[in-house]
Amino acid sequence: MLFDRLRQQLQEREQAHQYRRRRIMSSAQGVRVCIDDLEYLNFCSNDYLALANHPELKAAFKQAVDRYGVGSGSAHLINGHSHEHHALEEELAAFTGRQRALLFSTGYMANLGLVSTLLGRSDTLFEDRLNHASLIDAGILSRARMQRYAHNDMTALAEKLEQCDRGEKLIVSDGVFSMDGDLAPIIDMAHLAQAHDALLMIDDAHGLGVLGRTGGGSLEQAGLDAVAVPILMGTLGKALGTFGAFVAGDELLIEALINHARSYVYTTALPPAVAAATRASLRLLQTESWRRQKLTALVEHWKQGAGQLQLPLMDSDTAIQPLLLGSSEKAIRISQQLEQRGFLISAIRPPTVAKGQARLRITFSAEHEPEHIDRLLEALDVLLGLEQNRDEAGE
Ligand SMILES: *Cc1c(COP(=O)(O)O)cnc(C)c1O
Repeated sequence: MLFDRLRQQLQEREQAHQYRRRRIMSSAQGVRVCIDDLEYLNFCSNDYLALANHPELKAAFKQAVDRYGVGSGSAHLINGHSHEHHALEEELAAFTGRQRALLFSTGYMANLGLVSTLLGRSDTLFEDRLNHASLIDAGILSRARMQRYAHNDMTALAEKLEQCDRGEKLIVSDGVFSMDGDLAPIIDMAHLAQAHDALLMIDDAHGLGVLGRTGGGSLEQAGLDAVAVPILMGTLGKALGTFGAFVAGDELLIEALINHARSYVYTTALPPAVAAATRASLRLLQTESWRRQKLTALVEHWKQGAGQLQLPLMDSDTAIQPLLLGSSEKAIRISQQLEQRGFLISAIRPPTVAKGQARLRITFSAEHEPEHIDRLLEALDVLLGLEQNRDEAGE
């Protein structure tokens, strides 16, 4: 029976300390969040610039609700494409320095639509091993042959490109790796793409808004334009603080997506108010560069403190600062003990990361203060010290 199999799969997950459970939040996103009536210091949100609960975004959202109502009513190609959507697309195109931008309902759907519009079964797709699940699923949906190369290994990518004799070539990568926080070597990737007649696409879900002088993301930071990286995907639910995603590129690409991307055509448009709030967010993130500067300072403060305590830092300079713990059991235990002490940090376990690579994924926001980080460091020092005693006692 199918349900018996599900039951068994869930039991196996539980035994492997990999069972997933949700927390029920009763407050807005922010440095302080509530679950039931208890308050926690939050270190696991992707709201890097602290915009998700910003008064200007909320005002723009409410104003748009008064004008447009809540639901968009239909897909963009029927009559769901409002003035707010269209204006946001134009502003995103200008912000990313591209001819056009196209809104999708989620980043997951943007990746599915993009890759499956570009590639078919006679083509080849090159993916970093640590790419986001949506990029992997996009590859499967496209039916292209998938070549996954070792994380950020440009020698491996070059070899695979050289050996490829199958159709059109597309290289896709996270700009900032979502569970690791490190950056893709986009400059090298752009050179390889050019040398091998391949197209390069970057998913900048965790770079957009955060990296680069004006928040332009991984590409701005690397000094790369739309010629070097013709396809850019960005999400709105992380640093931009709202919801949704977009693809930016040339006129031709966007018209092809409007016509062929099934995850664009056959789904309801985002609520117009979400687009309106995102327009406010896009203005704020460009004018308030202090948010990025503060985030950089906080990351430095953390890395210095964590280094002194010899915490198991990973190779990241971004606001994603994972601590590598190894076993799922240990990651879950420390996450729970942190929660008892008033810190909210989620344990990231397989299959999201490789076996033996479970970690705490710590993230910072522009609303954190150095003092919050000091409190977290103190708690981690105690808890990881206890773990060490445990290991030594052979438990
Ligand atoms: C979050 C994320 C996505 C998915 O975006 P959603 O809008 O949440 O669906 C895609 N790619 C990467 C790298 C992400 O981190």
